[in-house]
Amino acid sequence: MTRGTPERPLRVAIVGAGPSGFYAADALFKSGLDVAVDVFDRLPTPFGLVRGGVAPDHQTIKKVVAVYERIAKHPKFRFFGHTRLGADVSVATLARHYDARIYAVGAEADRRLGIPGEDLPGSLSATAFVGWYNGHPNHQAHPIDLGCARAAVVGVGNVALDVTRILVSDPEVLATTDIADHALAALRASKVREVVLLGRRSAAEAAFSPQEIEEIADLPGVDVVVDPAEVVPSEASGPLDAQAAKNLAWLQAQAAKGEGTNPRKVRLRFLRSPYEIEGTDRVTALHVERNVLGRDAAGRPVPHGTGEVERIEVGLVFRSVGYLGVPIPGVPFDHARHRIPNRDGRVLDEITGEVRVGEYVVGWAKRGPTGLVGTNRGDAAGTVALLVADVAGWPDRDLPDPHELTDALAATGHLPTSWDDWGRIDAAERERGGAAGKIREKYVDIAAMLDAAKP
Ligand code: NAP
Repeated sequence: MTRGTPERPLRVAIVGAGPSGFYAADALFKSGLDVAVDVFDRLPTPFGLVRGGVAPDHQTIKKVVAVYERIAKHPKFRFFGHTRLGADVSVATLARHYDARIYAVGAEADRRLGIPGEDLPGSLSATAFVGWYNGHPNHQAHPIDLGCARAAVVGVGNVALDVTRILVSDPEVLATTDIADHALAALRASKVREVVLLGRRSAAEAAFSPQEIEEIADLPGVDVVVDPAEVVPSEASGPLDAQAAKNLAWLQAQAAKGEGTNPRKVRLRFLRSPYEIEGTDRVTALHVERNVLGRDAAGRPVPHGTGEVERIEVGLVFRSVGYLGVPIPGVPFDHARHRIPNRDGRVLDEITGEVRVGEYVVGWAKRGPTGLVGTNRGDAAGTVALLVADVAGWPDRDLPDPHELTDALAATGHLPTSWDDWGRIDAAERERGGAAGKIREKYVDIAAMLDAAKP
């Protein structure tokens, strides 16, 4: 029987209910084939980084969930929350129940600096801090002490700017958002008055978007301070793209403004690499080396240490130097590039390099941790187009009844959350938030989520 018809719908499992998973589901529903999509997520709740990553003061970006809710309304969409691939359900089980699997698992770990002192209390990843203020159940328990006057953020990407903005924002502005209550209380009591951001290359290589740095400069009570000596263009940068040219021009203009008079400072430092985090019981300082910009064999601008060092007194160090994918049992993994090996989204065997029939990947697990939420739309559509092109070449096979998977999971004692369950969690969170004058008050632990999910 031909797959993709009402008599024999194409059955696809998508693992990961973040943006790339939802965009893949949407592309499948729009493919012209009759497709039934089951989306799995390790959390009882959907939306991945839109819920757990996007900053609480960026509610406009979070509005994209309305698009995902519309996709979930498709009659052939099912949600299996609280169901981790490789633990609650195996790859072999999915292979038995579906024609194809699409991994949309993102990149949940973080890159480390690999310097002494990195594990001292007070040194943590941006991933942990972001998860903590966003009420992610894996990150609620971090002992984050904001009792110091100065914090350092290593890395100058948009995540580094999110972390910085949350640290220097007026907590009362955050108080009406969906920020986790424990984070709001800590930020209200915070003593942090200065955040030093460290870029290892020159200002022209800053990874942040111009509007993100401008947003910080526009915050009331905050000065963005730049040393004029650190925004001198370098020939090693080569020709600048539009974003780099805009960033550099903005930073040079900012440098000309001096220290400013506001009580809170964001100090941008370029051509500085941390080499040691100092402290005995907790972080007391960050040691950095000044770099000059050179070029590698491929002509890319790279930092070279000069041996000139500096001690910056800080009580907190946030490393914000990129995310890393983590391996999942039964799924190929490229350990050098920290993602699922693939050719344009078709998963490759990690040993033979051959295409694995019926396995696909989208989003950060496919291309690495880059791009905005919307980038995942075209990315997922590209992978789904290949999947649809491949369908005709697959050998015929009958699949178990769609309800058998639910029964098989229940037989192991595992109860996934459904889309209706999520609806109850969502309503309860909004109600809790409403009572406190907030958009929503998230449940920060899984047991409370499951309790709220009950009809
Ligand atoms: P990113 O944009 O790749 O930035 C990572 C930063 O870490 C870069 O400045 C990089 O410097 C630096 N870095 C890496 N290794 C380092 C090391 N060993 N020592 C010092 N610095 C190091 O990544 P991200 O900030 O994690 O963001 C991930 C993606 O999400 C990006 O595409 C970002 O735009 C997006 N995002 C967007 C928003 C938004 O639009 N509001 C918010 C959050 C995230 P080099 O360039 O020298 O490698």
